Amino acid sequence: MSKKEFKAESKKLLDMMINSIYTHKEIFLREIISNASDAIDKLYYKELSEQKTGLTRDDFKITIAVDKDARLLTISDNGIGMDKDELETNLGTIAKSGSFDFKNENESKDDIDIIGQFGVGFYSAFMVSDHVEVISKKHGSDEAYIWSSDGADGYTVEKTEKDSHGTDVILHIKEDSEEEKYDDFLNQYRISSLVKKYSDYITYAILMDFETTKPVDKGDDADSDAEPEYETVVETRTLNSMVPIWKKAKGDLTDEDYNAYYKEKFFDFNDPLCHIHTRVEGQITYDALMYVPSKAPFDYMNKDFKRGLALYTNGVMIMEKCEDLLPEYLSFVSGVVDSADLSLNISRELLQHDRQLKLIAKNIEKKIIAALIKLQSEDREKYAEFFKSFGVQFKFGIYNSYGMDKDKLQDLLIYSSSEDDEKPVTLKEYVERMKEGQEHIYYACGETVDKIKALPQAEAAKAKGYEVLYMTENVDEFVAQILAEYDGKSFMNINASEFDLSTEEEKEAIKKENEEAKNMLDIMKETLGEKVKGVRFTNTLANYPVCLTNEGDISIEMEKTLNAMPIGEKVKADLVMEINSSHQIASRLKEIASDQEKLREYTEVLYDLAKIISGLSVDNPARLSELVCKLM
Ligand code: ADP
Repeated sequence: MSKKEFKAESKKLLDMMINSIYTHKEIFLREIISNASDAIDKLYYKELSEQKTGLTRDDFKITIAVDKDARLLTISDNGIGMDKDELETNLGTIAKSGSFDFKNENESKDDIDIIGQFGVGFYSAFMVSDHVEVISKKHGSDEAYIWSSDGADGYTVEKTEKDSHGTDVILHIKEDSEEEKYDDFLNQYRISSLVKKYSDYITYAILMDFETTKPVDKGDDADSDAEPEYETVVETRTLNSMVPIWKKAKGDLTDEDYNAYYKEKFFDFNDPLCHIHTRVEGQITYDALMYVPSKAPFDYMNKDFKRGLALYTNGVMIMEKCEDLLPEYLSFVSGVVDSADLSLNISRELLQHDRQLKLIAKNIEKKIIAALIKLQSEDREKYAEFFKSFGVQFKFGIYNSYGMDKDKLQDLLIYSSSEDDEKPVTLKEYVERMKEGQEHIYYACGETVDKIKALPQAEAAKAKGYEVLYMTENVDEFVAQILAEYDGKSFMNINASEFDLSTEEEKEAIKKENEEAKNMLDIMKETLGEKVKGVRFTNTLANYPVCLTNEGDISIEMEKTLNAMPIGEKVKADLVMEINSSHQIASRLKEIASDQEKLREYTEVLYDLAKIISGLSVDNPARLSELVCKLM
């Protein structure tokens, strides 16, 4: 029988396991038991949905056997089993691509973190064994196969005999070394405490035979003075409580319990931001345990990322990621839902139309949003951290639903603002502290907060004491337009030409000034041609000489965003060049206005300046420098 090589990625992982100096090698047991439990789930699911196997829940078990002399630790299950091909593909090509991607991005992180925090799977067996055999018989098949490997140079698969369906994983435990006491893994008491520690929640019985000596029971006619005789009896014990964590009472669980389960089950090495554990009884009954991660999963932005919660019915997993349980804007949530009310006779495809499932999804969504709102009010800093990673999901949620989901999502939004750079504000808080008589929710858009702060209009709003929301993400302005208003107050971009904080008299005065300078302004507009809709004086700018504002729905920032998209027609914001009437440039312009050529040159320079001030680039820098030098 020729040896087959492991696939490259598998080999990397395997080498990491074989040479691991990781101190918690004990986790191999949890990994193997978890595979056994999954294999049973698969078969049990088949029974529940097709009723063809005749097996009941009590028929399923995982057994652990120790042979000290032969240094063997065997973990057996009577689950679905693997045929020859599956042994080859499942055990020959294990690419925990997730953990690798992570490792490659973070070369400085050593293997210790990865092993400890990610589910490393079957290969972790090689941390404690120098030889591993897997004997498996697929349910429904007559043939059994044995896969064996001592790690480094490949594996073999051969035909063998096995009585019933399922899988035996036989570990040849390494000899003790100076650094590591492998003998521990042949100690039954140690094994049972490891099961308790890592696999207690597994819902199938994990059994182990213990040999104990007991006095021989000789019945009534025994001579009570005689030396008691002892015999060795074998006692089968169940090592786990079989209660999954989500079925336990909240009061019996600590944050550590919740966090440990999260990290192991969902392959994250950070503690979650928070967990939500609920039991609902009534119209529909279910338990749910959900987690909000503190950082985006490494594959979150991959297009292959699958959202969803694990779906169980009566402790049996029927789907690893049930998409229909989570709306897209909550895709970062992970967790488990377990309901006895779900009908297993329907196919997985039909499940999504299930009324019960819809009801659960609706309740869950409410719970998650409520938990986030609570966090937002109790720990703004923590929430702001969270929002940095996931807030954009809510924005897309509002945008993509054309506002249909806005009532659910708008209160989750926070923005940094001119009031307090450090503490982002909710829309509710903004409206509550609005100045008396303030009609609008003012916002400004730009690439960064610093760039927004430097906008002339931001300066003007600040001078008058109005709070301005800073919007730095591309989607922000679209969201503001879709929301249109919050609590009766409409949104207004301070870059829009309607933004005007001046009094009636001031408005009158500037109107007059514009009328008087009409000739000059017309020439300026004509000079700029299509670039602007108009040129006018303004008294809303504090210190800047000029600025660009937009008329209509498309702002300067939106123009940038939309035009950066690969599809769609190019759009153009309707811009107005506004000149600060109290700036010395205004009087200078009037002085030179009779010299048309000069006026045109000044106009070109001012327009470029306005673009720079608005964070845009100049169309023709050569022309600008030529003009500036000439005028100097
Ligand atoms: P994971 O369990 O995360 O997929 P593993 O490396 O632990 O990765 O296992 C690889 C695959 O081998 C599993 O996905 C499963 O298909 C198969 N497998 C492992 N152990 C068993 C088992 N006891 N019974 C059936 N299949 C198994």
